[in-house]
Amino acid sequence: MRMTGLSGQDFDLLVIGGGITGCGVARDAAMRGLKVALVERDDFASGTSGRSSRLVHGGIRYLEHGQLHLVYESIRERQTLLRIAPHLVKPLAFTWPIYRGARVGRVRLSAGLLAYYLMAGGRSRRHSNLNSRETLEREPSLESTGLTGGAVYYDASTDDARLTIANALAARHDGAIVASHTLATGILHSREKAVGATVSHRYSGETDEVRSRVIVNATGVWDNGLLFNKAGRRDRGSKGAHISVPRERIGNRDALTLISPIDGRVMFCLPAGTQTIVGTTDNWTDESPEAVHASVADVDYLLRSANSYFPRAELTRADIVSAWAGIRPLASAPEGNPSAASREHSIVTDNSGVIHITGGKLTTYRSMAAEIVDRVQEALGRKRERSPTDSVVLPGAERANGIARLQRDDARLSELLVPGLPYTGAHLVYGVSEEMAKSLSDLLIRRTHLAFETRDHGVGIAARAADIVAPLLGWDDQTKSARVREFSQDVERMFAIS
Ligand SMILES: Cc1cc2nc3c(=O)[nH]c(=O)nc-3n(C[C@H](O)[C@H](O)[C@H](O)COP(=O)(O)OP(=O)(O)OC[C@H]3O[C@@H](n4cnc5c(N)ncnc54)[C@H](O)[C@@H]3O)c2cc1C
Repeated sequence: MRMTGLSGQDFDLLVIGGGITGCGVARDAAMRGLKVALVERDDFASGTSGRSSRLVHGGIRYLEHGQLHLVYESIRERQTLLRIAPHLVKPLAFTWPIYRGARVGRVRLSAGLLAYYLMAGGRSRRHSNLNSRETLEREPSLESTGLTGGAVYYDASTDDARLTIANALAARHDGAIVASHTLATGILHSREKAVGATVSHRYSGETDEVRSRVIVNATGVWDNGLLFNKAGRRDRGSKGAHISVPRERIGNRDALTLISPIDGRVMFCLPAGTQTIVGTTDNWTDESPEAVHASVADVDYLLRSANSYFPRAELTRADIVSAWAGIRPLASAPEGNPSAASREHSIVTDNSGVIHITGGKLTTYRSMAAEIVDRVQEALGRKRERSPTDSVVLPGAERANGIARLQRDDARLSELLVPGLPYTGAHLVYGVSEEMAKSLSDLLIRRTHLAFETRDHGVGIAARAADIVAPLLGWDDQTKSARVREFSQDVERMFAIS
């Protein structure tokens, strides 16, 4: 048997794709005692799951589109995640200002928020309506002309990449073999039934045959038509872009829900440390998920929308620290406005027995995973057991102590990588030794958010970061240079504006 542990044994379940969906499925299945393997072509959360608005939310805007079931499920899941991952999912207050003539006026907003509150069954903090003075007290930098009032309501925020990685770690803790930088290249068949996959490992160049009784395709918006024929081919997706700017430039104190004056869509200004994230756009796209990035039109839309609420900011493109985009996996792509397309998920089993999952949200990943694993147990001919994931805490809370210990043991590891940001060499060492990071992008984009939070996206400290982790990853000088180049190309692709 090879070092990866993927060859030479029969798995009950092979999950292809290590976004939040795949990692959630692997964790659930491993906890129910199944023998599980998961392969991810790049890093966990390198796809859509690392490019979201980082909200764990009921999705107040879906009420407008009558998606009551989705809102109900999302609110329930929000409460569950606040309970099982308090270190990763935190309550967040949103101010929603209302202006004269707004598409959503005070009465409509108040009714929507009441429904939102009632759907939480009293388990959430109650919203409050605000007059214009109270709204400005909460957010003094807002445009005051035409402001008639507003409301404050409560949802939650997370670190999307870390939530995904926590699920991968939890799956591994419960016995799953989870392999990042491992691409599924083909499906193995026996009498037309899928019985496994061939996979190729990015850094060793080696290949494996993974035998499994059931396969779940959790590859999101990746077009895996070649792998799975028609069932794995993606429909067009909806692209969402974000920008981040220094928080002091906007001057927001908390999170805001706004209606873009350009097209009437709901958007957010979200606090993220010393920065504010403004997002998102919502447009149909045929771009490939590996190459998707913000366009000039995307960033101009976000700047103009933010400026209309915070006119004193006079934001320009020069204020942008980073811009990035992702593609929403939608179970169906109807004609018309993508914002109105359902965010519900769909689960389909094809003729070869592969279970495909599309759609869904970060927020609902856990319940979606539970539903898929119910299907897997059925396909295996096993009794359906109840999913235990709503009560067992996710790992990750110990991270801060682990990093502090590393810093205590070696003072050099407590030096900041970039002045003003909280990341040190210890974060990198911890990422490699405890969180399955294998590349500089894994470390600087997802184990930390340094690449999002610096104007050069971490390129200036990449060589230093490589020196810190080289002994752990067995990198010689040539490999270090190659990894720095690879990182520069990754961030150039991800954070380009064009
Ligand atoms: C702009 C934007 C904002 C959003 N904001 C929110 C939000 O605030 N809250 C919320 O709840 N939801 C949000 N969403 C939705 C949420 O991000 C997605 O629903 C979720 O991340 C999808 O996860 P996934 O695992 O299905 O897909 P992905 O994260 O894309 O994972 C699929 C994985 O499959 C891998 N893969 C593909 N092909 C192969 C192969 N052949 N072999 C191995 N691996 C492969 C890819 O590398 C990828 O990592 C947002 C989405 C977008 C685009």
